[in-house]
Amino acid sequence: MATLRFNALEKVISRQAKEITTPSTKPSQYFSEMVFTRAKMQEYLSKEAYQNVMDANEKGCKIDRRIAEQIAAGMKAWATDKGATHYTHWFHPLNGATAEKHDAFFEPTENGGAIEKFTGSLLVQQEPDASSFPNGGIRNTFEARGYSAWDPTSPAFVMGKTLCIPTIFVSYTGEALDYKTPLLKSLHQLNKNAVEVAQYFDKNVTKVIANLGWEQEYFLVDEALYYARPDLALTGRTLMGHASAKDQQLEDHYFGSIPERVAAYMKDFEMEALRLGIPVKTRHNEVAPNQFECAPVYEEANLAVDHNQLITEIMNKVALRHHFRVLMHEKPYKGVNGSGKHNNWSMSTNTGVNLLSPGKNPKANLQFLTFLVNTVMAVYKHSDLLRASIVSPGNEHRLGASEAPPSIISIFLGKQLSLHLDEIEQRVPNSSKMSADEKTELKLDIGKIPEILLDNTDRNRTSPFAFTGNRFEFRAVGSSANCASPMIVLNSIVAKQLKDFKTEVDQIIETGVKKDEAIFRVLKSYIIESKAIRFEGNGYSDEWVKEAEKRGLTNIKEMVNAIHSFVSPESIALFEELNVLNKRELEARLEIRQEIFIKKIQIESRVLGDLVLNHVIPTAIKYQNILIENVKGLESLSIKISRSSQTKMLEKLSLHINSVEEMVEEMVEARKKANAIENMEDKAKAYNVEVKPFLEKIRYHIDKLELIVDDEMWPLPKYRELLFMR
Ligand code: ADP
Ligand code: MG
Repeated sequence: MATLRFNALEKVISRQAKEITTPSTKPSQYFSEMVFTRAKMQEYLSKEAYQNVMDANEKGCKIDRRIAEQIAAGMKAWATDKGATHYTHWFHPLNGATAEKHDAFFEPTENGGAIEKFTGSLLVQQEPDASSFPNGGIRNTFEARGYSAWDPTSPAFVMGKTLCIPTIFVSYTGEALDYKTPLLKSLHQLNKNAVEVAQYFDKNVTKVIANLGWEQEYFLVDEALYYARPDLALTGRTLMGHASAKDQQLEDHYFGSIPERVAAYMKDFEMEALRLGIPVKTRHNEVAPNQFECAPVYEEANLAVDHNQLITEIMNKVALRHHFRVLMHEKPYKGVNGSGKHNNWSMSTNTGVNLLSPGKNPKANLQFLTFLVNTVMAVYKHSDLLRASIVSPGNEHRLGASEAPPSIISIFLGKQLSLHLDEIEQRVPNSSKMSADEKTELKLDIGKIPEILLDNTDRNRTSPFAFTGNRFEFRAVGSSANCASPMIVLNSIVAKQLKDFKTEVDQIIETGVKKDEAIFRVLKSYIIESKAIRFEGNGYSDEWVKEAEKRGLTNIKEMVNAIHSFVSPESIALFEELNVLNKRELEARLEIRQEIFIKKIQIESRVLGDLVLNHVIPTAIKYQNILIENVKGLESLSIKISRSSQTKMLEKLSLHINSVEEMVEEMVEARKKANAIENMEDKAKAYNVEVKPFLEKIRYHIDKLELIVDDEMWPLPKYRELLFMR
């Protein structure tokens, strides 16, 4: 009998919501208590050292070596007051995880004693032997050193007993081996170019930052069920499982009341997140059963990216206390909604203005339109690169399937805003000057934008990239992604677009045209040029796929093909011009993604092979034997059995058993062939074309067997259990 499954089910039934000790204080009292915030720095650092950190933060100044000693001493004093005994440089290598290597604060002395040690040089630079982090061939083993260096724009924090210092991670030869390095560079470029354009409207603007508010979707599953499903435990998704008779058809989960056990878990991890300065605010049920969402208030993009990485760690850790496992995979269950991570993105100035928010007067609204249209244009020109920034083996299953945006990048602006762009297109003359009346009329129209947007409630949830009143929401990002990847691309393409815009406007101004009119003219040309990327209709429909093709928009479904845009001549030119990533780094990133793809498919294929041979076939054969016994018994009693249900079932069982067995053999052969290929690109393609399709084909037959075989004998928890039990 299928004891593992039934033991697991029994365990889940007996679970209780785990009461956690709720603190007697309000969140405002423990928010950021484990973070080395500015207030804490003022307390623990000298004035001079504090100022140096602030300058590094705001103006990008270097931290002086001598001062680094003071900062290290202050940071250590604060951290030990918080109970820390170790410290680590905390960074985001390209495998998508976060990395830490803990070192104790103390060092033994010669006479057998120990002194507590953490110096300035250990703060600002470390040399982890990190030769096993993915590097796309950048670091040969003989130069296995990578450097991690403190990023003073993201504050240090204490997690458990460890002081974590956010750092960048670069190779001995200076190439970025992480997400943070290019992210910081892209933010710097966005700042520089956006400031120049913003100064057309307000000379007081000296700094522009990008904001990011992420919405993290995830599934929860009880740990007992999780362990009874080797596919979930090893690959993060189910490789088999027939659809549950009921899943999300009734849409009764979304925004429903949060189950008690889940609510206890949420409260618990949110409290840890708040203590670490992550401003979590929203929690709710998502569309699929056992699917949930967590979202904080938006923050400066670099900090928001760190916080998203950090909350993933916290969620995983706290889940253990509640006997849950968090599924961050984009598509853990076939046929029900997958999980995304909406990236809400905007730009704001040191003068407190959101550049993607309409203002109170025509001038402010022209500024708003300038940044809006330039973003549209940037996405139009680099849609393939933006698409490449969000691909992953998991997201490949999600995009274009049950309630997820398709692989086509398009932008939704809303009807009213679209009408406004149409107005500009019609009213602004190409070269002849506008009359005073024409200008006034246009400005009056623009003046109306805020009111229009306020009651503009149309929200298109089917668009991968939607304007939502004061920000763009990039919805195609996968739940397990590091937000830095899409943010690097978005910041860079908008920075480059603003740079080009400035050049064009200045050229027109030089011919004697007034500034506003020059801006209008360029915006008009962009509105016309970028039209194809704007789509207001249903992005989930088949008509859109056809329409997009007519418009010349690409629809690259498969990861191995989509990632090529990283090394297209346009992408290389863009990133090199901005000094965000060079050709070598881009090629390395491509190679790392190919490698990840290969490994993931390889693991899935092996796990499925094992499941078929060790679980599915033996179970199906046992059931077959019972039927055979039954048929023999009936025969011995001379009961007529030809074409009976029993024999039909025996035939079906044989068919599916044979099919899965044969296909597993073929799949292993295909893998062997693919493994022999040296070239990474060809190997990835072989895995994509020759190995990957078996996963679906084999699954089809397993799922059929699941329907036939006696439920009591089926060894693995079924969809109805995984999705509904908690
Ligand atoms: P939704 O209706 O899409 O679920 P929410 O109100 O939950 O929207 O907000 C989603 C995220 O968008 C939150 O993290 C929120 O802080 C963020 N957000 C709101 N305004 C901005 C903005 N101007 N720039 C960036 N993010 C923003
Ligand atoms: Mg949203």
